[in-house]
Amino acid sequence: MKKIILTFGISLFAAFAIHVASTNPEANLKKITNISNPDSLKEKSDLMESKINKTEQEWKNELTPEEYYVLREKGTERAYTGEFWNHFEDGVYKCSGCGEPLFSSETKFNSHCGWPSYFQPIDKSKIIYQEDRSYGMIRTEVMCARCGGHLGHVFDDGPKPTGLRYCINSVSLDFEKAAEKK
Ligand code: FE
Repeated sequence: MKKIILTFGISLFAAFAIHVASTNPEANLKKITNISNPDSLKEKSDLMESKINKTEQEWKNELTPEEYYVLREKGTERAYTGEFWNHFEDGVYKCSGCGEPLFSSETKFNSHCGWPSYFQPIDKSKIIYQEDRSYGMIRTEVMCARCGGHLGHVFDDGPKPTGLRYCINSVSLDFEKAAEKK
């Protein structure tokens, strides 16, 4: 009998652990918005400001068809056709989905691959890294941490100091030129 109770207990714990592990951040966000405890309001407002949670229909209404295809459907623009693969002005590249500053011109390099390439993001915490096993390859997909928009992939054949190449779709970026130096 003890053995049965023990087995049941372990199974229950395992089921709970799996449930916790599979809970995604979006679901957490929804849960937090349902909390009526006033002490949690500060945390709630911070989260709502920092993360963007839109329906696919809202994204469709706001983005151009090209932006929607790349950002929301993880599409890829054709090499050497985007706005920024050969663009080397001083400034900041922001997410075209939500405006978050993601890459600086100071980390951009000419990779000759047909897409804008950077050896590091402005802040690693603004990027989500996820394994991508599509098309028979194992790659690391990079997404905007604020809106979840697909940006491109990161490879380990980049230059110093990181050795990384963030290969990003131009469509996923908007450029803000640096103020003229006087
Ligand atoms: Fe974004």
